[in-house]
Amino acid sequence: MRSCGWAGTILRVDLSSGAIERQPLEAGFARAFLGGQGFAEKLIFDACDFSERDPFSAKNVLCVAPGALSGTLTPGSGRLTVAVGLSPSLGGYLDANAGGGFASELKWANYDAIVITGQAPHPVYLRIADDQVELRDARQLWGKRVRECDHLLQHEVALTQYARLIIGPAGENRVHGSMPTCDLFRAPSAGSTGAVFGAKNLKAIVVKGTRGVPVARPAEAFAAFRAVYEKNRAEARFKRFGEQGTKWLVELSGTLTCQYNMQVRDFPYEHLSIERFRKEFASGSKACHACFQHCDHHWQINSGDFSGEQGSGGEAGTIIPLGPMCGVSDYATILHLTNLVNDLGLDSITAGCAVATAMHWWQEGLLTAADTGGLRLEWGDAQAEEQLILQIAERRGFGAVLAEGTFAAAGELARRRGLELARLTSLIRSNKKRREVPADFRPLKGMAFSRALDIRECDVLNTDTLMAEGNVDYERYRHIGVPEPVARQWADSYICNPMVFDDKSLAKFYSDNHLSVCNSLGICQRFTTWAQMRMGLEDIARCFSAVTGIDVTWEDLHQAGDRIRQLEQAMQLLHGFRKADDYFPDAYYNSPVTQGRFEGAELDRGEYTTELENLYRLRGWDKDGRPTAAHLHQAGLDDVAAKLRAVELLAP
Ligand code: SF4
Repeated sequence: MRSCGWAGTILRVDLSSGAIERQPLEAGFARAFLGGQGFAEKLIFDACDFSERDPFSAKNVLCVAPGALSGTLTPGSGRLTVAVGLSPSLGGYLDANAGGGFASELKWANYDAIVITGQAPHPVYLRIADDQVELRDARQLWGKRVRECDHLLQHEVALTQYARLIIGPAGENRVHGSMPTCDLFRAPSAGSTGAVFGAKNLKAIVVKGTRGVPVARPAEAFAAFRAVYEKNRAEARFKRFGEQGTKWLVELSGTLTCQYNMQVRDFPYEHLSIERFRKEFASGSKACHACFQHCDHHWQINSGDFSGEQGSGGEAGTIIPLGPMCGVSDYATILHLTNLVNDLGLDSITAGCAVATAMHWWQEGLLTAADTGGLRLEWGDAQAEEQLILQIAERRGFGAVLAEGTFAAAGELARRRGLELARLTSLIRSNKKRREVPADFRPLKGMAFSRALDIRECDVLNTDTLMAEGNVDYERYRHIGVPEPVARQWADSYICNPMVFDDKSLAKFYSDNHLSVCNSLGICQRFTTWAQMRMGLEDIARCFSAVTGIDVTWEDLHQAGDRIRQLEQAMQLLHGFRKADDYFPDAYYNSPVTQGRFEGAELDRGEYTTELENLYRLRGWDKDGRPTAAHLHQAGLDDVAAKLRAVELLAP
């Protein structure tokens, strides 16, 4: 199928045999699963052996998929999905999402997804230049950090013309929390997708495309894009994202976290103010393809130990775990550590949580210099933090223990030291799926609900209720692009109050479908209702219809979002997840916050269960989270129902 919007081809690469095949994209498949996340889920579902529990087996499936609208000028449409059938850190299906230029290049090269199976006999990289697709020897690149690898690749291909995904030593060493780095500074973070690249001996994918993407109704498409641009440009947040990205959240989060969720009253959050970043470090803004918001920033350190160092990025999700969670408040040091984790190919949240956990154990006397090889892990010791991050990526010293993740490290420490395991694990802040939670969200109910359901660390791009909370009435919901009946329903509920649990399932049902649609079309959430911007599902439907020539409504997209959620749930059930995994550990419930602005706030387990079961009901699942055959049939997922029925995981 070669039509407008989609490229028309799925690329299949078997690293074991070196076979490279092109498979035509089927029209029905494209319409049902859209692209990006939806394509990755279905392609992996069809190829995955759910009985295989080794994520490093050659059988594990890796998928890289641009959104259906990537490569066009649809605002913010440059997002890429990187997914694995079995994530080493989750133990289930996982997809992650990154910006940059890779998604668009892949579409211009004429591919809607790459499905990678097998295991290369030695390190290779995949080079794609339109029809030329080849596996090249990467033995000379193995062991190199991301930037050095990038530099060496310049000599092999005219790399500046290519978009690239590269793993660092962390991915090669199959480290928990490793990821490929996209165009040096963007990352589909968390879930250890980098470790699957490493296990497959796949050092990098580089792609260059010259084909473009045909648009069905160009004038209509341009008008739809322009309307989004005008609406978003009129919002105060537009300027804020452009100037500040998410760095302004750092100070705000001071009420929720530092030193790994221990609320320290006098932590100097003012050292990490956005004003300070802009005055001392910012050197320019930066955008993904088709983005006019440019939320990312280049920076340079102009004095001190790291003087002359340059980089990019440093979102709140990087600064908080590498800084305050470890007790570090020096901005230049945190930017230096940001470069380090990018270069090692290590997710900043996972790395920060690992170091913060070790520091917490140290503080409690559960970890000593005898365990760490002499490394003293006091709160705020940035040099110790840097050393430990390096050890993790290179699997050296105590880092080799943490490279398996904090829970595995707790088990190993308990065994070595004869400690009670529960004492160690009780200091790890995570949900039941062992996804670390880099803040104490007990006061904020929608946020807490989302974090309990996370499959990645603080995965606001996969599950969240941000768009629903904090708004006050129907007009405001409509203003940010919530469709009319949904806005009316929300305005009549308790959704707007983040401190109250009631009705959060309603918010979550719509929001999660919205997120799946955006992740499948390749649209950055920061343009949309999710971020209180004004690109809603109705605008997205207009863009999609004009680009593809297939007229859809927001309800059609909402249903597609639900279909993608059904498929994800089916895969997690097949991987062994159950209702009990959709919670926080017991200690998180009915235990009030003991100090700070939200002192006394708690999460009620009964209220939580009510909203969880309401969410299941809205999805057509039974009270244990199992889909029904009827609902799956309605969603066009009879094959999924059959697979669940065969292992008795379909609701009766
Ligand atoms: S808003 Fe930021 S993350 Fe989103 S597309 Fe633009 S630069 Fe990329």
